[in-house]
Amino acid sequence: MQVNRIFCIGKNYADHVAELAHLGHQADGECVVFMKPASAIVPEGQPIPLPRNRGSVHYEAELVVLLTGGGRNVPLKEALGCVAGMTLGLDLTLRELQTELKNKGKPWEIAKSYDGSAALGDFRPYLEQDLQKLEFTLRVNGELRQHGRTRDMLYPVARQIHILSQSWALQPGDVIFTGTPKGVGPLAPGDELVLAGDGIGSFSWKCKQERK
Ligand code: ZN
Repeated sequence: MQVNRIFCIGKNYADHVAELAHLGHQADGECVVFMKPASAIVPEGQPIPLPRNRGSVHYEAELVVLLTGGGRNVPLKEALGCVAGMTLGLDLTLRELQTELKNKGKPWEIAKSYDGSAALGDFRPYLEQDLQKLEFTLRVNGELRQHGRTRDMLYPVARQIHILSQSWALQPGDVIFTGTPKGVGPLAPGDELVLAGDGIGSFSWKCKQERK
């Protein structure tokens, strides 16, 4: 299934909300919804571009789900029936730029939704595994940086689908980046990233500085 729209949920793990609070980002207990264009996708094996002169690119390891559709106002109890597949991905973020935009009360797009801002593994079929009992890790150059346990989500996947469907008629190929746990940090040229999860798979990328 071709990826259609990319929805992203922010502030969905309490430990990550706490670490961002040090940067002055507000912790109000509510998740954030934003989008990336399909052109943001970096498939496995393609280099993750590090833009020049825009500050650091932070990785955010996330469980990603693929939807069969669902339309508008999906009831909470039916929400998981909309899930077709799952994988892991990286919500890549120009962190200093994002902080600056947030502090000015401006939209985030240029910090969160630029081309190359969504590393995305291949989808595996969703076979009704419990999406709130998954674990995933991100290693950078072999070093463990993030360890997510989806039971720690403030907004479980079903609730995310329910919430998104109140604003969008969900379509086949829509995907959701479901938020990141603590441990986010900056990337450097040449960094090798491996995202892995039991029953989800293992996916790798390498970072490359963008040309001048
Ligand atoms: Zn994120």
